[in-house]
Amino acid sequence: MSRYTSDSRDRVFEAVDMISLVSARTELRRAGADSYFGLCPFHDERSPSFHVRPQERHYYCFGCQAAGDPFTFVMETEGLDFKAALETLADRFSVTLQSEDEDPAAASRRARRERLYSLLGRAASYYARFLWDSSEAAPARDYLQGRGLSDDILRQFRVGYAPSAWDRMLRASRSAGFSDEELVAAGLVQRSKTRPGQVYDRFRERIMFPSADARGRVLGFGARAMRENQRPKYLNTSDGELYHKRSQLFGIDHARAPAAKAGRMILVEGYTDVLALHQAGLRNAVGIMGTSFTDEQLRELSRVVAVLELCLDADQAGQAAMVRAAKMASERKPPLELRVVPLPQETDPADLVEYEGADALRERVERSQPFVVFHVARILDRGDLRSAEGKDAAFSELQPVLAELSPSALRDELMRKVSGRLELPEARLATLVANAGAVLAPSTASGNGGSAPPLAQELKAERALLALCIAMPDTGDEVLANINADELLTSELYRRAAKHLGGRCRAPMSELPPDDDELARTIADLVARAGQREDITVDRLHHARLLLELARLDRAIVRARVQGGEGVSELARERQDALEAYHGVVARLERAI
Ligand code: ZN
Repeated sequence: MSRYTSDSRDRVFEAVDMISLVSARTELRRAGADSYFGLCPFHDERSPSFHVRPQERHYYCFGCQAAGDPFTFVMETEGLDFKAALETLADRFSVTLQSEDEDPAAASRRARRERLYSLLGRAASYYARFLWDSSEAAPARDYLQGRGLSDDILRQFRVGYAPSAWDRMLRASRSAGFSDEELVAAGLVQRSKTRPGQVYDRFRERIMFPSADARGRVLGFGARAMRENQRPKYLNTSDGELYHKRSQLFGIDHARAPAAKAGRMILVEGYTDVLALHQAGLRNAVGIMGTSFTDEQLRELSRVVAVLELCLDADQAGQAAMVRAAKMASERKPPLELRVVPLPQETDPADLVEYEGADALRERVERSQPFVVFHVARILDRGDLRSAEGKDAAFSELQPVLAELSPSALRDELMRKVSGRLELPEARLATLVANAGAVLAPSTASGNGGSAPPLAQELKAERALLALCIAMPDTGDEVLANINADELLTSELYRRAAKHLGGRCRAPMSELPPDDDELARTIADLVARAGQREDITVDRLHHARLLLELARLDRAIVRARVQGGEGVSELARERQDALEAYHGVVARLERAI
């Protein structure tokens, strides 16, 4: 594939109006000559910490440290790679891109692709017009309305109708200057098997769902039969120069930007499911088109989001698709998080919107569960747990699933559930899970850090905090009364020391428990260090405390993410406050030197 010249890149960079680019995502307010502020489009926040310098074409977030230029901005907010971001910006700010030494063959291939894109775009418009304007399409309009789909959403997705005649598309495209060969390549017509040289329309009497790429260029169609006995029920464009079924995601052009912002994508099976979700205001939904979720689709999605919400039919095929998807997602680096939206038996998302309304579906998506919860429940429900053999079989399926889980409330909950259903005491189950797992590769999932060796830097900050508390006993007692040592400190010994020192900073060696030599030695060491320190200031103490507070919040954020993401925004805000306070202290300490 050809590259664009660096001059092209520079001209796009120069042409970009940062304010209009960023303003499409968040409202900006002027703060200075080359300085604007607004709410960060990359993380949830209430007070603006997102900073834009339009002349430098640069942005920076003081909250989440997101930073970059127009290209990274488009790549991240719209989930595109660099080339696509460059093309999008060139389009938007009217810059003509030049390819680096494109040979004539590559140039003509590109020109051909452009013609096919244009042909397919025209075809989509033609079908859409036919859906709305022709009397022949009245049953199709009724069917779509009967599915609860609004005209507005149908027009947004360019849904259309292919007439019953054999040559409507053929004639319309020929008269627009396209050759039969191009029509075949685009998958709009096919060659007759009985009459050599003859071609005819591939799609007839069908509702047409145009399938586009991330930039909205139509690549092919999914076509639903309208007549009884019309086979197949769904007819797709065949794989060809532009269309590759395995990497196609229906609705990606509409869903990509909202998904990049939300950090998650909802996956559904059918065309009308996608439309129903978008209509319900869930704009981050795409269709995987059937139950076989492919690695190509997964790769495409992993560039946009970190979390996938599977909203597939609860039937056997749908469930098997989820298990396959989970396996692929967990094998990716970094792994994609998979969650399952529970749907009632034999209901698809479009039905649900139709019967229960949009809010009901939105609530279900909000109640999505980690894939592992769904998976464990499925193994338990399928197995015959009345017999000893059935229990053994279920256990052997559950063991690798449970062994992968890091210590968490979720793991405890699942272990309790499994122990109940398999009628195994929890302690015994834990031993079985751990021992069978001992031969497997060690789990890479991060725990809560409770048993892991703390980092040397944190230990130093913990020691400095306690020594400074002793050196400034009034401040020390106050600080110690306001911290939770078990959460803030990682060293077990310093936790004990902090609890002992609280209220005793003036006389730290008093009232030491007689049977704890280790604690006595530690306190003695802290007292000695307090006497040797030369930098005894309240700011120094807060510096150590805030350093530990930031580390604590980082641990809490990781833990919250592992456990499903609840409270992450809250913690991120807390972290931002702590970070601001920390910067303030650092600035004061630097001035003091
Ligand atoms: Zn941010």
